[in-house]
Amino acid sequence: MIDTHCHLDMLSSEEDILESVDRLDYLLTIGCDKQEIYKAIEFTKKFDNVYASIGYHPYEIGDISEKDIENLAKLYKNNSKVVAIGECGLDFYRDKTPKNLQEKFFRLQIELAKELKLPIVIHSREADADTERILSKYAPFESGGIMHCFGGSLRLMEATLEMGFYISFAGNITYPKADNLREIAKKVPLDRLLLETDSPFLAPQKVRGKPNKPSNIFYTLDFVANLLGISPSELEKNTDENAKRLLKFNNKSVQ
Ligand SMILES: [Zn+2]
Repeated sequence: MIDTHCHLDMLSSEEDILESVDRLDYLLTIGCDKQEIYKAIEFTKKFDNVYASIGYHPYEIGDISEKDIENLAKLYKNNSKVVAIGECGLDFYRDKTPKNLQEKFFRLQIELAKELKLPIVIHSREADADTERILSKYAPFESGGIMHCFGGSLRLMEATLEMGFYISFAGNITYPKADNLREIAKKVPLDRLLLETDSPFLAPQKVRGKPNKPSNIFYTLDFVANLLGISPSELEKNTDENAKRLLKFNNKSVQ
């Protein structure tokens, strides 16, 4: 089983990290601010099955410059286990950073991912129309990407699917009020579906209220398999194949 989105540096205990790394085949840890990027890379050095995605979350762009974006390219070139750019995108849920600045750094990171031929991890919250507008300017995404912790509309799902993205669901799909999300998940083709924990956030319903950890992905796997009317092992096979096709673990030679 693969967790395509976790923040290992934010996990509360070393024990949770060790257990998760032990139980999963691969984990993609996300470094999305100035310090976390380096922590994510450190985790890839410590554990064989941990890979990293690096970029700037829309809340973390207040103090970055274009130089920091250029630096992502250097970090990618010097670290064989950096396999994606992000998470980046738009978040209009909280007014933490100005919209125009969010768009500027979103675009720069899209351009970087395209230049490096890397998949891009997208964070979009309360920003469906703008996310679609910006992404459509750069479509198609030949190296693909992930609509992480999908929480948008059916329209955004269909539009980004068309552009080459994979749709990833996190533990919040198991929450009682997430009917809308479940209806959308049923419509994602099996060969474009991914699962993630976004740990330490969004623990699945069965362990809700506790800090989340990557090994909790099995709760989400069981839940979504049941939703789709297939066995957990069949769903796991599909989502793992998708993650490997997209993220190409092992395939990058050190440059
Ligand atoms: Zn995240």
